[in-house]
Amino acid sequence: MRQPNFILLGSVKMSTRAYSKLETGNPKPETVAMVLPADLHMHTPLCRHASGEPVDYARRAVEIGLTEIGFSDHSPMARDDFDNWRMLDRQLDEYVAKVRLAQKTFPQLNILLALEVDYLPGHEEWIRSLAARHPWDYFIGSVHYVSESWDIDNPAKLSEWKKRDAFEVWKIYFDRLTLAAESKLFDIIGHCDLPKKFGIRPTQDCTPLYEKFLDTAAKNNCAIELNTAGLRKDCQEIYPSRELLALAFQKNVPITFGSDAHMPEEVGLNFSDAIQLARDVGYTKTLRFQKRQSRIVAL
Ligand SMILES: [Zn+2]
Ligand SMILES: [Zn+2]
Repeated sequence: MRQPNFILLGSVKMSTRAYSKLETGNPKPETVAMVLPADLHMHTPLCRHASGEPVDYARRAVEIGLTEIGFSDHSPMARDDFDNWRMLDRQLDEYVAKVRLAQKTFPQLNILLALEVDYLPGHEEWIRSLAARHPWDYFIGSVHYVSESWDIDNPAKLSEWKKRDAFEVWKIYFDRLTLAAESKLFDIIGHCDLPKKFGIRPTQDCTPLYEKFLDTAAKNNCAIELNTAGLRKDCQEIYPSRELLALAFQKNVPITFGSDAHMPEEVGLNFSDAIQLARDVGYTKTLRFQKRQSRIVAL
């Protein structure tokens, strides 16, 4: 049986307790429909490790009551042989066509066109050239690589972790993330504590790393996403952690939401947990995007 399509709230300021109660209960007719935040992070089969066409992701979004989603597949690199988990440069137009088809098929759903772009120092010109090729709604800047050859979230390279000190990896990762936020190339920073993916964590206090990154993000009006994919990994928690998100709230860093879906069933997954976490640390607002312009909306 279909779940109710909307989470209905009398007021956007309603408590999280009432929120979760209403989510499963019968909505009262006099209540005002409050839309779920947009799911701004999802992939397509062009990246070679996701399944389902954009129309299938869009169909799922409509089923669960989302009103806005954004495709943000792994962008091409300047060299197609850089790795094997992204679209090829010549597929960029095909990617845009697939998203346009989803927009045409589901006119009742607002579907945004975006990319998840890898940030590596020295790749700035390439990223600028990508930005000029299509009318993107936003760019998610993600750090997966802490060197030219080690993508820290790649299960095939898990043994690399044994050769490194976890704190050193965290330090390089957050230094790169800070550069990404400073570069003004991105609207949102993706899964901003990705090194925790496999559950390997440093024993040192990482607060100074987080603070430097978040101060830079706030200064450059760069959002961070609450990415629910972490709940499906060994770390079993949303990216970022409650601790990092609480710091982000203190520093006025805006937030967005993303499932990082690599299959249609993952669209909007665990969004109620992410909304709860955001509200718990104090957030009452989120961002929406269009043509790389953001506006603040109630959460
Ligand atoms: Zn991926
Ligand atoms: Zn990513």
